[in-house]
Amino acid sequence: MVFRSDQLVVRGIFVAGSGTGVGKTVCTAALLRALRLVGMAAQAVKPVQTGVIPGDGAVLADTAVCDAAVADLPPHDLPTAAMLHCFALPASPHLAAEREGVSLGCDRLCADVRAHCHGSRADFLLLEGAGGVRVPLNQHEDMLDFMARLGLPVLLVGDNCLGGLNHILLSLDALRGRGLFLCGLALVPTADPSAGCPGVDVPALLADNAAVLRCRLQQEGWNAPLVEVPRVPALNAAAWQRLAEVFAPLAHRMVSGAGESRSEQQKLLPRDRRVLWHPYASVTEPPPLHVAERTFSNRIRLADGRDLVDGMSSWWAAVHGYNHPRLLAALREQAGRMPHVMFGGLTHEPAVCLAERLLALMPAGLERIFFADSGSVAVEIALKMALQYQHAQGEKRRTRFLAPLGGYHGDTFGAMSVCDPITGMHSLFSGMLPRQIFVERPSCRFDHPFDPGSLDAVRTVLRERREEIAAVILEPVVQGAGGMWFYHPGYVRELSRLCRETGVLLILDEIATGFGRTGKMFAAFWADVQPDILCCGKALTGGMLTLAATACTERVANGICSEGGVFMHGPTYMANALACAVAGASLDILEKEDWCGRVATLEQGLRGGLAACANLPGVRDVRVLGGIGVVEMSEPVNTASLQKFFVSRGVWLRPFQRLVYLMPPYITPASDVERLCKAVHDAVLSGAHLP
Ligand code: PMP
Repeated sequence: MVFRSDQLVVRGIFVAGSGTGVGKTVCTAALLRALRLVGMAAQAVKPVQTGVIPGDGAVLADTAVCDAAVADLPPHDLPTAAMLHCFALPASPHLAAEREGVSLGCDRLCADVRAHCHGSRADFLLLEGAGGVRVPLNQHEDMLDFMARLGLPVLLVGDNCLGGLNHILLSLDALRGRGLFLCGLALVPTADPSAGCPGVDVPALLADNAAVLRCRLQQEGWNAPLVEVPRVPALNAAAWQRLAEVFAPLAHRMVSGAGESRSEQQKLLPRDRRVLWHPYASVTEPPPLHVAERTFSNRIRLADGRDLVDGMSSWWAAVHGYNHPRLLAALREQAGRMPHVMFGGLTHEPAVCLAERLLALMPAGLERIFFADSGSVAVEIALKMALQYQHAQGEKRRTRFLAPLGGYHGDTFGAMSVCDPITGMHSLFSGMLPRQIFVERPSCRFDHPFDPGSLDAVRTVLRERREEIAAVILEPVVQGAGGMWFYHPGYVRELSRLCRETGVLLILDEIATGFGRTGKMFAAFWADVQPDILCCGKALTGGMLTLAATACTERVANGICSEGGVFMHGPTYMANALACAVAGASLDILEKEDWCGRVATLEQGLRGGLAACANLPGVRDVRVLGGIGVVEMSEPVNTASLQKFFVSRGVWLRPFQRLVYLMPPYITPASDVERLCKAVHDAVLSGAHLP
């Protein structure tokens, strides 16, 4: 329960209501008293209060309640309560703020809470919401978004009455949906528990509500106590003492830190070190590691409370940023309906719709989709499709693949065999890998005039060894993990022509480049080519779940299946319904949110922001295409020290080999693109990249 405000650490919880007028303030005040009784400098903070005029004596009715709750305790120089925003209109925060020309939102409220922490001597904050959890703050955000952004444990306050259970259970669902930690549930008696309904057996209703909630808390795995708040005739000193006693066990839990999610998170590092292995890493000399606790928009929050501006889109995937509400909604909706069924003998709407939509977005001629569970597997599938196709055509000698050097296609055996033999670490597995044919890396830069001579080598190999080659595989226009190299689309166009001439299939690996990253929906559109097979993945689900797809032409599909043939592949989680549903929502976002304009703006920001790097010592090349920015150094960089520098600057980037590169989410605001680029510039300037 730690809320970090830069250097300052303050503990706190969020007090939320299952509706308006359920007794949040009384519970907050009672808890405040309980905390002060155990020596905490606790303070109630109301980020937004409506229906009051600052400076008016009536005001601060909530402050008065808190004052009354501790009136008989020894005086404390810390005010009992603070209000960060007060609005006169007794209405929802979004309306009340709008009426006064104030724009409320999560960014602003979080900044205000942080500023308050800085100026406050409180050591425990009780942040009180306004109304229920889905009360709007503005057109796009509500209280729940704010709560999720703070990530504090939540005390949910609900009223014990006819209909109260429904609101409480729905509120619990909402908290669960945002991954919020429930530290307690307070059930408050209301003046009229029968809600005006004659004939209700009130004592039975109240007891049953409590029993049902206790059962649900356990059944749904909430490790939180139910606090049954007693009815008090008047809020006098004796009543406050009684209420504080009811909240005392909860206060003790909070003070002792029982179930504290943050401190648990911070203990993860040593546990991780004992049992886990990270990508491309040693377990005996493990690389530095950070615990990520939450994400939102283009930010990654670390367990120590720092928010980092993401410059990686989690390896090309999170193009819409994190926790996009449409993706979350699609995930929840599909999870409630049918998370997964085997795809052998069964089908479902998310898979059919997604396949139709993907084919409509991909280059013409691709007419069939095979779903896979990762990019590497999609590549394996593509290679197997090509082999089975050639075999079915009677071309039994065509068992090899041709690939340009500098490519990267994944880490499984088939995919590895077509990666660059040096950067792809083939040597370790050379005895096991199928031997493929490599040609020089496409040499003609994206931004230079096309040089047909750059295909001389591949032209010769294709013509001379056509009988051995099943397919050419390459990443069109952008070679990603193999060197972040942008080459001329003319190369892909000419290669496609050569493939057709020599009966060799063309496989485009668009796992990194797909879904707009290069400025075109698929990089194939730069070259205006029609591949026989195309792989996509990564951004397919907007970074939410693992899913990939291999598309092929009807010619390839029919070729494989002629004379009773079947395609020999079938992953257990093929066409996972959750992933397909989320991918469909991700395509909706791409369609509706002008990805093209956003990538163009990103490109402009990266170009402007990285330009100054070109003159720094040790920099070999600076290049930008679409939403990808690369600063290529002359020597391999020190990833650990660079990353330390970047985290200290509040940005998340992960350089490798000689490359410091950025591919931020498309939604990244211009100011954050600037911040990312400045961090790269300053890192190189300060020598943080040096060994
Ligand atoms: N192909 C390309 C072009 C890639 O960039 C990657 C991943 N970096 C892959 C294939 C492999 O995808 P995955 O990591 O999902 O297996």
